[in-house]
Amino acid sequence: MAELERDVVDCRRCPLAEGRTQVVFGVGHPQAPLMFVGEAPGAEEDRRGQPFVGRSGQLLDRLMAEELGMSRSQAYIANVVMCRPPGNRDPRPVEIEACRPNLEAKLDLIRPAVIMTLGNFAARTLLGATEGITRLRGRSYPFRGGVLVPTYHPSAALRSGEGRVLAEMRADFIRAKEALVAAGALGPAGVVEPGVGEPAGAGPAPGPGPR
Ligand code: URA
Repeated sequence: MAELERDVVDCRRCPLAEGRTQVVFGVGHPQAPLMFVGEAPGAEEDRRGQPFVGRSGQLLDRLMAEELGMSRSQAYIANVVMCRPPGNRDPRPVEIEACRPNLEAKLDLIRPAVIMTLGNFAARTLLGATEGITRLRGRSYPFRGGVLVPTYHPSAALRSGEGRVLAEMRADFIRAKEALVAAGALGPAGVVEPGVGEPAGAGPAPGPGPR
């Protein structure tokens, strides 16, 4: 992961390189059982070099703690594009495609049992879907040997006064929790140490076990 990060600090593969302060690579446990994929760094993330450190990030941390009993250091957090779009505009298709190999490389290295996408762009990019998040959420999808659970972007919950959107986000986090438990990555005492969860079906076939 460190090598991948070194390779992209000076990335110039798309026009977003012009306006960024720095590449926001991603943070968290390199073998996390749970990975979050957001949209793009905002102003605070661009300044600090870490994803989800502004108001959306505070809500994400809260949901992680309240619904999963997890802290951000036990998960991995990344975005569809690693550089801040000017004025926080939406990332463009050419930018998303330019950054896709970086996202896929992180998925290959981490092999999370569960991926939660945050908002339209991450869900559509990874699922190859055209529907919006309102239609895509509410279920989980088999994905790269694990499962993908789409949910709203935390900024949608903040914008809407935290009512229905936040309640539905909580339901999505519970769906993710169930998938983590099913993958053996989360137990009653929290994340199964050392913070590693095998993607469902990727581990050895269950044998008769010790008697
Ligand atoms: N919104 C995102 O999608 N990603 C961040 O890192 C911060 C805000």
